[in-house]
Amino acid sequence: NTYTAAQTRYDAMQYRYAGQSGLKLPVLSLGLWHNFGDGVDDAVCRQMIGTAFDQGITHFDLANNYGPPAGSAETRFGKMLCDQFGSYRDEMLISTKAGYYMWPGPYGEWGSRKYLISSCDASLKRMGLEYVDIFYHHRPDPNTPLEETMGALAQLVRQGKALYVGISNYHRTDALKAMALLKEMGCPCVLNQVRYSMLDRWVEDDHLLDGMKGEAGTICFSPLAQGLLSNRYLDGSIPPDSRASKSYFLKPETITKERVELLNGLNAIARERGQNLSEMAISWLLVDKRVTSVLIGASSAEQLKVNLKAVENKSDFTNKELSEIDALCKR
Ligand code: NDP
Repeated sequence: NTYTAAQTRYDAMQYRYAGQSGLKLPVLSLGLWHNFGDGVDDAVCRQMIGTAFDQGITHFDLANNYGPPAGSAETRFGKMLCDQFGSYRDEMLISTKAGYYMWPGPYGEWGSRKYLISSCDASLKRMGLEYVDIFYHHRPDPNTPLEETMGALAQLVRQGKALYVGISNYHRTDALKAMALLKEMGCPCVLNQVRYSMLDRWVEDDHLLDGMKGEAGTICFSPLAQGLLSNRYLDGSIPPDSRASKSYFLKPETITKERVELLNGLNAIARERGQNLSEMAISWLLVDKRVTSVLIGASSAEQLKVNLKAVENKSDFTNKELSEIDALCKR
């Protein structure tokens, strides 16, 4: 289980500051939502972390509920840190979150101080860490005062359990309120983690990035629309090992004939650019410099290697390409 990181690990990756903070993120980050739970091949997981880190992906994103079952991705990651990657802890940015259902009863989800503090403690225990680098509130809670939720985040920083805090899935109005509260508490929000891809433009409709004025950074999850924006489904079939065949979150019935046509249209533009579709989908998000990082998932080290190419060739879109992409996606 010995691992020695590649000497060249910082040669190609690029890093961007998270909003107005001093914290730099790699333009590509790796999330452990799927593919790190129980019942997956441990060697594949280790290969993915090693491949990512060797190429300058310093940021690994988790949440209390990642698995399945909930908690198992943190447990696995903690084990990998303990017996293989832990000596590089200071070169890593590890984040986790609380907000979704984690345990039964009134204190196991949403945004109370009671839930956030105990969930963070449990995450630290599972990962065998003293602190996480970023702790997020995972989704807005309409029934808890924002002051309480943001106060709990600030408390975690004061307790030394998190170095930075962020919010996730917050639309503009709530994001701005949360950011103002955290600033008042002397604990600025460094990131809003939101779903954003060529196929999902709610962030644009919400004018979210304009509203945040660069005070907090944006980290985009599901940039490949869970794998749709790759070569996975281009022939219209659903591979047996794919997320669409395995996960409740990507339903096979959403992969319609029209969708496949659209994906092939985008793929043709990618080909013209000398990229494949997943690379282009990542490059496209990085055109906007307010995007701090693009947070991908992967089920193999090979997929990661393909996606890493986006870092080399990232923001050279012509206006024609951009408008063709918009025309296809917004049809
Ligand atoms: P992606 O859109 O990047 O989808 C990842 C999936 O795409 C992989 O599992 C794989 O699917 C497929 N894929 C990736 N690269 C390739 C490739 N080169 N060729 C073919 N297929 C490829 O992101 P996720 O939806 O996984 O989300 C990424 C991360 O974002 C999560 O791990 C998590 O950290 C975060 N997230 C945060 C949320 C929040 O509420 N804050 C919600 C959701 C995600 P396959 O398994 O079929 O091989």
